[in-house]
Amino acid sequence: MTDLYSRHLAVLPDWLATYYRQPIEITHGEGRHVWDAAGNRYLDFFGGILTTMTAHALPEVTKAVSEQAGRIVHSSTLYLNRPMVELAERVAALSGIPDARVFFTTSGTEANDTALLLATAYRRSHQILAMRNSYHGRSFSAVGITGNRSWSPTGLSPLQTLYVHGGVRGRGPYAAFTDAQFIEACVADLEDLIGHTHDVAALIAEPIQGVGGFTAPPDGLFAAFRDVLDRHGILWISDEVQTGWGRTGDHFWGWQAHAENGPPDILTFAKGIGNGMSIGGVVARADVMNCLDANSISTFGGSPVTMAAGLANLTYLLEHDLQGNARRVGGLLLERLRAVGARSPLVREVRGRGLMIGIELVKPGTDEANPEAAAAVLEAAREGGLLIGKGGGHDTSVLRIAPPLSLNVAEAEAGASILEHALNAG
Ligand code: PMP
Repeated sequence: MTDLYSRHLAVLPDWLATYYRQPIEITHGEGRHVWDAAGNRYLDFFGGILTTMTAHALPEVTKAVSEQAGRIVHSSTLYLNRPMVELAERVAALSGIPDARVFFTTSGTEANDTALLLATAYRRSHQILAMRNSYHGRSFSAVGITGNRSWSPTGLSPLQTLYVHGGVRGRGPYAAFTDAQFIEACVADLEDLIGHTHDVAALIAEPIQGVGGFTAPPDGLFAAFRDVLDRHGILWISDEVQTGWGRTGDHFWGWQAHAENGPPDILTFAKGIGNGMSIGGVVARADVMNCLDANSISTFGGSPVTMAAGLANLTYLLEHDLQGNARRVGGLLLERLRAVGARSPLVREVRGRGLMIGIELVKPGTDEANPEAAAAVLEAAREGGLLIGKGGGHDTSVLRIAPPLSLNVAEAEAGASILEHALNAG
């Protein structure tokens, strides 16, 4: 055990889990690569949990951060903050929400917490609909809407939450249905559930479930849900913490795969926009955002240094069409991994969109989740020089692949080969 690992274990919480039998310390990165303290170089297919969105050590972001830090690091929202206003203008315009207002936080958790505060205040109700197998953050309110037992450490909650079907296409009672039947059954379940409640405030959903193992409903499910929600005045919150900024290739936001009945009322974001600087936020229609009748601030939310990073990062993303790159390179990678998966008895499904790809592992010849194999493949991939993630609902048996969106074809090929070897070893 390294000295740093024993010090980590001695002073940090037991529930702060690390990857690998011998956890690694990442000391620096460049592009799509990182190096550990022992000098090993890895291709990074997890980006610090989908957070290094453009590239490691992107010079444009580094420059913006250091220039802003050289001027002023913090002023608070009591004073006008030019980079915050500029980023809010750009996010509002990109969000697709009419008359949008933006509030910046420091994390995805705090963004969802704010969305819940807004929705419950606006609707005067503490009833929330969430999806089974969801993850929305670690605060007391966020774990109360997280339908994934391994990430919800308490059953106590300030909210009354009911869990809806639809986030997981390939397992559960509706798995054998066609897409159209699946949507119909989920909508009927939603209607039935709402019939048993009083004045639900909102439905919150990830368009593609991240921690849950990159599972998603068929396109159009949330548009069909929206139809039902509208009839009851229930708000739709789209948690875009993992799916935002073009990662899914086909769309800039995950909700756009469900756009027939318009945008969500509230959208939350975090992770990728800061490329590692702590930015989260909420976008909402003005009447929803402005419904609070008391003051509310986030001391660090919208800090000039993080906003400067966000602006530089977003500019790079748009100018280099990284959404288009995610679609093209992600499409190739998905195809390559499907071929790899077809040859491995461990692989039940290879799924995904853009640069958000999940490989679900099972015990060979069964449908049973195989968390041991997922852990072994993760380890073997690291030995081969590739970092990936894992996730999944009841058991952590899904490999998660989500590289920076600037991934090139050669790197996609190299990563797929390492994964192929790792699957054979695992
Ligand atoms: N929502 C989703 C969909 C997430 O994946 C996460 C983080 N994994 C969060 C919210 C919480 O974000 P944070 O860890 O920044 O609080």
